[in-house]
This record gives sequence, structure tokens and C-alpha cells, in this order.
Amino acid sequence: MTLPILIFIVLHWYLSAFCQTFFLHRYASHRMFALTPAWERFFHVATFLTQGASYLNPRAYALLHRLHHAYSDTERDPHSPYHTRTPLGMMWRTFEQYYGIYTGRIQPDPRIDRGSPEWPAFERWAEPVWTRLIFVAAYAVYYARFAESAWVWVFLPLHVLMGPVHGAIVNWCGHAYGYANFDNKDRSKNTLSMDLLTMGELMQNNHHRDEKRLNFAYRWFEIDPTYPLILALERAGIVRRVTERGR
Ligand SMILES: [Zn+2]
Ligand SMILES: [Zn+2]
Repeated sequence: MTLPILIFIVLHWYLSAFCQTFFLHRYASHRMFALTPAWERFFHVATFLTQGASYLNPRAYALLHRLHHAYSDTERDPHSPYHTRTPLGMMWRTFEQYYGIYTGRIQPDPRIDRGSPEWPAFERWAEPVWTRLIFVAAYAVYYARFAESAWVWVFLPLHVLMGPVHGAIVNWCGHAYGYANFDNKDRSKNTLSMDLLTMGELMQNNHHRDEKRLNFAYRWFEIDPTYPLILALERAGIVRRVTERGR
């Protein structure tokens, strides 16, 4: 594999994982911190650029994720490994629910729909299929320029499905494999062995314990890589705390 392809895979993976955990999950879904309107737009655009072909609508993501917390590992959980046989089946069920919320076919409980980033003018050209195809073409052009052997192209679908791939890893592994610090009345786990890959997202058991807590790590050996980044953004005046939990 050539170095430019490796750099592209690593950068795309981590920038996309950061935007998902920082903007879609911690900000849009849980409102763990506040952003000014200008910074909210900045991270909204950053999420679009880093997820690219698989960009997820922040409002639909937030509502779907709140449903996951409200019904964690029950029949009504939109993505529990205990109600689908395979990760692929879980991804499909998640997509159906996401699309239902996105199109308005599924109307969640008003308590779930309690505010999330909305920017209709931006979504009008950020979400259509042709925009996604431009991203796919850009990934392919980059691969065509730098891939020295044909087998490297097996990584191309990863770029195309980056957002859902991260979601599937977190939602499947974070409720199926690992240990629990707390009894949250669900089956959430901390999958420490893979946690650094997802910027802290795989400490699901800790996160379900207190969904407003900024730091997903509790014990000395647990690391939430996104937490120090949030502290740095707070020091830079970009993030404003709305909770002291997780200090
Ligand atoms: Zn969970
Ligand atoms: Zn959450």
C-alpha cells in the first residue's frame, strides 16, 4: 500500500469518527456542551465534509440516538445486537428507522424531539444522491492516482460507508462485547480493546450510566480521546460547558 492511501484511510477514519462523536453524538444528540451559532455551522460543515458520501443528517441522527437511550436493548431500540442476528441486519434496521425519521414517516415521541441542529438550506444540496456521488468520484480519483496495486481498492467501500461503519462498530460491539462498570438495566458494555479506534465511543456502559457526562472514561485505565480535545476547545473559547459532570 502506498503512503498517500494509508494517510487518507487514517485521516478519513479519525476525522469522521471525531465529527460523529463530537458533533452528532455529544452535541446534537445530548447537548453536553454549547456552541455559538457560527461554530455550530462550522462543525456541521466539517461533519458533511468528513462523512462525505455517507453524511448523516444531524437531526435524524439525534432523534434516532435518543430513541436508543430511551429503549436501550429492548425491542424498541433502533439498533441493539440482541434483536438482530448480524451487524449487517442491525445496520439495515438502523437505516430504515433513520430514513423513517428523516422523511417524517416515523414521528418520535415529542420528548425525544427536543431540539437539534437544523439547516434546511444546507441539507438541500448536502444530502442528495448526486452530492454523494461526487464524493465517491473524488475518492476513486484519489485511489486511481495513488493506488499502486489493484487489491488496495478493497478499501474504497470503507470511505463510501464511513459514517455507518463507525455506527455499526459502536452499536454492535458496545452492547455485545466487553465489561460493565455499572448496572444500567440494559446490556451496554465497555469494549476497551477497540476504544481508541472510535474516539471513546466504545465505552457504551459508562456513557449509558450518565448520558450528559462529558468524559466517557471512569476508571484509571480507561481513555476517552475526545474528552481532552473538548477541554482544549473549551480553553480556546469554542466550546462552552453546560455541565460539570465528568470534570
Ligand atoms: Zn448504546
Ligand atoms: Zn449517547
